[in-house]
Amino acid sequence: MDILVINCGSSSLKYQLIDMEGEKVLAKGLVERIGIEGSRIKHEPINAEKVVIEEPIQDHKKALKMVVEAIVSKEHGVIESMNQITAVGHRVVHGGEDFSKSVIITDKVMEALEKNIELAPLHNPPNITGIEACKAIMPDVPMVAVFDTAFHQTIPEENYIYAIPYEYYEKYKIRRYGFHGTSHKYVAFRTAEILGRDLKDLNIVTCHLGNGASITAIKSGVSIDTSMGFTPLEGLAMGTRSGNIDPAIIPFLMKKENMSCDEVNDVLNKESGVLGVSGISSDFRDLEDEAAKGNKRAQLALNLFANRVKKYIAAYIAELGRVDAIVFTAGVGENSPLIRKMVCDGLNFIGVSIDNELNDVKGKERIISSEDSKVKVLIVPTNEELMIARETMELVK
Ligand code: ADP
Repeated sequence: MDILVINCGSSSLKYQLIDMEGEKVLAKGLVERIGIEGSRIKHEPINAEKVVIEEPIQDHKKALKMVVEAIVSKEHGVIESMNQITAVGHRVVHGGEDFSKSVIITDKVMEALEKNIELAPLHNPPNITGIEACKAIMPDVPMVAVFDTAFHQTIPEENYIYAIPYEYYEKYKIRRYGFHGTSHKYVAFRTAEILGRDLKDLNIVTCHLGNGASITAIKSGVSIDTSMGFTPLEGLAMGTRSGNIDPAIIPFLMKKENMSCDEVNDVLNKESGVLGVSGISSDFRDLEDEAAKGNKRAQLALNLFANRVKKYIAAYIAELGRVDAIVFTAGVGENSPLIRKMVCDGLNFIGVSIDNELNDVKGKERIISSEDSKVKVLIVPTNEELMIARETMELVK
């Protein structure tokens, strides 16, 4: 069974074709600059050289047509015909309160997705465009929507309701939704496999630390709290996002700097986080290099980031009552021994101890806690595409 996984952004489209027998990636790639000058597709087939095809790609339908052509092409294709694609799994950012699981896409589902645009005005429209483009090109292939928010629909009320007038929840559905759900779920499953334990018996804190970053408390395989909220702006300091700040800063800034709502929203989403603090970069590699050379603000950004990760982990351990494993994933979590060490050294008091040699690694799945650590600490590279393909297969089987 070959499953095509699609992750559609406003001007980009990422794809993977996965043979579910052995869960092998047959091809993957990226269409960039859709509708913008300089559009191209980068296609990486298994067992052959990567190809880049540059040509005008005016919309997502054309992009998808090129993806399918690349996958079945004589020169760099991996299957003979489009008919071999059993199903398509789409990443959808926001399922609101309508979806607590992945679903087969029907007209009713499309209506619900449209309704949820209000909650994710930047992300859901391109996701919907991707689904529509796929339907136009492969009308008979079943499609599944896998939501970033679905895994967190198990969070109890006291953790998802904000302490503002309850009517705003009733009127506008303002509540914590949480994001990166597919990633948190995947690494939790994988952690249970690595530890040879039943996920039902484990309490896990998963740390997805990428450009966007979130932490989740998982009890018996179920999300009970997560750091992102109504939008992906809440929680940790991130590459360019502020994460938690005193909400009173917003009207203060609007008055002092004469900013509009949209302007202040842009500052908090695009100019804040470790970029805003350091004034250097949102990329942790740059910050680590600069901090090593003695740049104080780069060091401050790293300290602030690691400290907030540590505080969330400790808070979530308190919520869980006990923790069996702490898991690091995504760009920074997988690749930065320094950040992992800064975070874990701060958790020595609850018996977390990492082995510095084991921690000295990038992008490898491994246990990095020391023999005597009371809590297992792991690096588990995330694989959202595989998780989407698995959920798609389950539903269409
Ligand atoms: P997203 O998917 O949210 O865009 P990723 O999970 O790909 O982000 O993470 C990207 C971030 O990972 C980069 O901004 C960079 O800071 C960080 N990163 C990647 N490699 C390294 C590394 N070797 N050391 C430290 N940070 C790294």
